[in-house]
Amino acid sequence: LKSIQNHFSKKTRAMAPISSYDYDFIVIGGGSGGSGAARRAAGWYGAKTLLIESGRSGGTCVNVGCVPKKMTWNFASVSEMLKDGVHYGYNIPQNIPFDFPQFKKNRDAKIQGLNAAYERNWGKENIELVRGTAGFKSATEIEVELADGGKAVYTAPKILIATGGHPIKPEGIPGAEYGIDSDGFFAIEELPKVIAFVGAGYIAVELAGVMNAIGVETHMFIRGDTFLRSFDPMVQETLTRRYEDAGVKIHKNHKGFKEIGSLKEGHGHEKLLKLVGNDGKEMEVNELLWAIGRAPEIEKLDAARVGVKQTRKGHIEVDEYQNSSVEGIYAIGDVTGQAELTPVAIAAGRALSNRLFGTFAEKNVDPKIIQSTHPSGGPHLSKAKLDYTNIPTVVFSHPEVGTTGLTEPAARQKYGDDQIKVYHTRFTAMFYDFHPAEEKKLQPTEYKLICVGSDEKIVGMHIIGAGSSEMMQGFGVAVKMGATKKDFDSCVAIHPTSAEELVTLK
Ligand code: FAD
Ligand code: NDP
Repeated sequence: LKSIQNHFSKKTRAMAPISSYDYDFIVIGGGSGGSGAARRAAGWYGAKTLLIESGRSGGTCVNVGCVPKKMTWNFASVSEMLKDGVHYGYNIPQNIPFDFPQFKKNRDAKIQGLNAAYERNWGKENIELVRGTAGFKSATEIEVELADGGKAVYTAPKILIATGGHPIKPEGIPGAEYGIDSDGFFAIEELPKVIAFVGAGYIAVELAGVMNAIGVETHMFIRGDTFLRSFDPMVQETLTRRYEDAGVKIHKNHKGFKEIGSLKEGHGHEKLLKLVGNDGKEMEVNELLWAIGRAPEIEKLDAARVGVKQTRKGHIEVDEYQNSSVEGIYAIGDVTGQAELTPVAIAAGRALSNRLFGTFAEKNVDPKIIQSTHPSGGPHLSKAKLDYTNIPTVVFSHPEVGTTGLTEPAARQKYGDDQIKVYHTRFTAMFYDFHPAEEKKLQPTEYKLICVGSDEKIVGMHIIGAGSSEMMQGFGVAVKMGATKKDFDSCVAIHPTSAEELVTLK
């Protein structure tokens, strides 16, 4: 790969046409998507690329998203494993003390290492980095409020918006600002004794699961009966029940809050808030975390002034090729509101750079090299785009959830009841064989395949249970390739695993 990159950079840069613009490509936002797009454009195709970043290198995923979240999930998994160990005869005292502030310090240090790695990689690919906040001056001019003071203007014929999003807090609730959001979660050093989460999406479920697993009294205020309401009903019902069984206090059909009062400022268990519900109920907690969704990061960008169309919620409108409504301006990742996941932003960014610069490089580089290394096969680079169907995703809940394709209700609606066959199983994984019976029966593993037509093509797969996060990637490949139930059945089972149930479903 390295030699191909060098080959592209040297050859194409040398042959680049003289242009009146400062750069071939300006990328706004050095998160997952922006970094992916810039590295592909500069590293593979030698496009003269400027990356503008207002915050920490790597964006949401690295700093306040996937990475610290998964590290904290791993931290909680150790605690769960210690409890499980007792049933195998390990003499593990209960309530083993742990050092959360030290874990947080270690986590921060790892993330700083990743920030530096991002910057090193940008440097290696000859990407120029400017620290500051970018805004549109015209469709080809970007004005930057530089982090170290002053302003600068840069021009390019192609500009990519990859500014991501931010967590939101509710409007119109006095005192809502006393609560934190997911960014604030990663700043917690001293654990609260009691924490309340508002919301029922990925973030609420993941972060509440972690807190509960490490012994913090955890409350979830949700608007419906279940969480993860866009997921298959099996996932919603089983996971909500599992959280209740695991001790999370779920306040269902909650009517929202009238007011949040600050009783005592401070950190950890010293902070004290009073939650006053619209139902008249009151409750005291040490921390409140709003996890009610995210909004696109567009305010400073002011793309509307150059005619870039946005949705009602403010996301940048794009077509299937990530083109905005203005020629030469593109958008990818969370700012577009399309499947808000890191690998999606990266893949969309790379596909875009293949399309914008790949054809240019093709003229200068042995086509065989591109053809053999490029996912979309070289000659079609001008049509390169991300296929947004069958994107597998995982919720790092307790236990994890994996999903790809359609939910059962969506499949029935799309194809009609008579075309759908559903395969389903629920069991207790072997790992729990030594747990007391009453605890064992509370540990769910549940799988569902949704098949369509006479050949039983798999159009939806939903799994819950320990190990689902690691299992899902391989099954995601199979579903993406158009696997049928017969294909699954023709694959010899791996025994003894939970996953083998997926190739032996009756
Ligand atoms: P970002 O990564 O947010 O990058 C945008 C960048 O643009 C930021 O660095 C920002 O500082 C910069 N920026 C914004 N405005 C400007 C401006 N005007 N000028 C210059 N720079 C600007 N996804 C997964 O796939 N798996 C997970 O496990 C997962 N866990 C998550 C957990 C949490 C708590 C959260 C919040 C998200 C999680 N996600 C996860 C989602 C994932 O983090 C995002 O989908 C991904 O980071 C989106 O990438 P992006 O490039 O679109 O935006
Ligand atoms: P989601 O869109 O997943 O969930 C938002 C939740 O907020 C919904 O459950 C909704 O509840 C609830 N909600 C909205 N408004 C209110 C309100 N006023 N009062 C109470 N509840 C409210 O957003 P998240 O912020 O959790 O996550 C954002 C995105 O980040 C995800 O969609 C995902 O793409 C990505 N992400 C991915 C992860 C992963 O890959 N593992 C992990 C974390 C985030 P209701 O059900 O009632 O509509």
